[in-house]
This record gives sequence, structure tokens and C-alpha cells, in this order.
Amino acid sequence: MLSIYNHDRDTVQLTYVYPVVSRRAGGVSLGINLNPNNKCNWQCVYCQVPNLQRGVADKVDLIVLERELDAFLLELMHGSYMKTHVPEQCRQLQDLAISGNGEPTTCPNFSDVVDLIVRLMQKYRLVIPLRLITNGSCMHKEHIQQGLTMMAAHRGEVWFKVDAIGENMTMAINGVSLSARWQAEQLQKTAQVCPTWIQTCVIQQQVEDSHYMSTYVSWLNDVLLQGGNIQGVLLYGLARPSMQEGGDKLVSADKAWLAVFAQKIESLGLAVKVS
Ligand code: SF4
Repeated sequence: MLSIYNHDRDTVQLTYVYPVVSRRAGGVSLGINLNPNNKCNWQCVYCQVPNLQRGVADKVDLIVLERELDAFLLELMHGSYMKTHVPEQCRQLQDLAISGNGEPTTCPNFSDVVDLIVRLMQKYRLVIPLRLITNGSCMHKEHIQQGLTMMAAHRGEVWFKVDAIGENMTMAINGVSLSARWQAEQLQKTAQVCPTWIQTCVIQQQVEDSHYMSTYVSWLNDVLLQGGNIQGVLLYGLARPSMQEGGDKLVSADKAWLAVFAQKIESLGLAVKVS
């Protein structure tokens, strides 16, 4: 049975396609992993990818992806997979999610991948969101903007990672040094094209930084003043263990702290979903 505690991308032994039960999507999310090579341009302390390496995605084999996605959608729609592998209360396909064992927008043929997925969603008459789960680092690239434009025309939605603000905190949490200004620009380049949710994972390390909450809220306020289609913030703690060195020592932010953080964000007029 699939569960929110097991996001093993090998459950169906396919190269690109994997089903999960997602607490954030609220049912079955059909993932499309553009980084089967386990390479990411970031190295988040809480990352759940085993054997994560620094790097970028390889070009996706579109023939293999089409074969896998077509067959698995057929199985989900008309086969017995839901009944045999998904808890009864979750037997609803909620979204297709472009994600990866690494950053999916480092994929060199990203816009061709989006085009293929949209075509198959149309074939199966799927009226559900097509989500992109991203760290936002490649949003300035032309072929990614093309992919985003296509997504926006087909119930697309971006989940854009912002765990920390500024060079020091992003280095500590995400393993890259990002300026607050660059983060804001990347987010705006996304939200100006496609509806966007910010996704923020909070562990004890952020909680213990006395400036973290105020820095985040003030940065977000400035971003909102610039406009763009920012739908809200998905705020969450750890659900599954980190696969990175020292990951077993990470502690999730507690519920009470997340509730206070959520209230501060809501005071900016944004929706917040805590999980
Ligand atoms: S951006 Fe995602 S895949 Fe990359 S290291 Fe962070 S959590 Fe892992």
C-alpha cells in the first residue's frame, strides 16, 4: 500500500513515472521524476533523495516517458491499481506532479516534457492540476519560461521552494548561497507566468534563528508588492527522514511554532496551508 510515509520512487519500477499518496495534494499524486540520476543543483539538509549528488538532470527520453505515462494513466483510470495499492480514502488522482530526485527544471528538454504531459492529460480528459515542484533556480531560462507558459494554459501550478532567505540561511538549509533579491526575482519570474504556491519546509534550525520569521515575512511582503500570481504558502515540517549526512538528527518545527508562523503570513493577505 502507498502511504504518506513512503515516497519511494521505485514502487512501480519505472524510470520516470511513480505514484505517491501526498498529504499536500490530498490523494494520489502521479509524479514524473525528471532526475532519475539523483542529481540536484542544491543540497538541502532535509532532502529525502538517497545518494544525492550535485549536478543536473539528463535529457529525458521522451519515448520512454510517453510509454510509461500513457500505460500508467490507463492503469489508474481503468485498471485495478487504485484498489490494490491505495488506501480507500485516498483513491482519487489529484494531480500530475513534475518533480524529481533532484531539480526538474535542470532538465535540458523541459518544455518538450511539459508538451508531452499536456497531450496525455488531454487524451485521458484529466481535469486536474499539473504541478511543478521546483527550487526555482532555473526560472529565468527561456525554455523553462516556455514550459511554464504551456502549464499556465493547462491548469498548471508551481510549488516554489523558499525555506530560508538570504545567503547565510540558504547555505545552511539548502546548500547554496542565494541573495534575497535573486530569490525574489526568480519567484516573480515564475508567478508572473503561472499560478504559484510558495512551499516552505521548517526544521528546528530555522526556528532557533531569532530573525528567521521576521526576515521571511518582511521579504514576502516586499515580493507581494511587486505583483504576480502568488496563491499562498504551503508550510510544512518533516514527514519522512532526510537521506543526507546527519539527517537523522534533524528535528521538525513543532505545530505551535508553525501556527504562529502561519498567522504572520496570513496577516499579509495570503492563504496558508500547514501540514
Ligand atoms: S531542491 Fe529538492 S531535490 Fe534538490 S536537494 Fe533540495 S529537496 Fe533535494
